[in-house]
Amino acid sequence: MAKILFVEDDQNLATRVLEWLELEKHIVEHCGNGKMGCEKLEDFKYELVILDLGLPDMTGIDVLKKFRSLGGTTPVLILTGQDSLDDKEAGLDAGADDYLTKPFDARELSARIRALLRRPTHFSGVTLN
Ligand code: CA
Repeated sequence: MAKILFVEDDQNLATRVLEWLELEKHIVEHCGNGKMGCEKLEDFKYELVILDLGLPDMTGIDVLKKFRSLGGTTPVLILTGQDSLDDKEAGLDAGADDYLTKPFDARELSARIRALLRRPTHFSGVTLN
């Protein structure tokens, strides 16, 4: 069980994903645009962020870059229809931890969420030589 922020403007998809994640006992907050997503990330703590790239007001990449520039370390999984290698590279380079393209299987989303939540939370400040 984890507290998850889900930023997605496709209401139908959001509803389906919310239902699925709640069945899996996660606590999910949903918002439908980038500005709200940024505000939530500044004001609240989450264990995971699921982020769409094509948002009505700004791109998910902008949301992600802003969050990371403010020191946010929460794992971010990009969930998007943009499936080109360039998009994946840009997303991961902007600070995403994983990248899943639509259409996707709900079970794969769950498995990736479990993998991200298994990671130790505090890597920052540790230097590995
Ligand atoms: Ca979208």
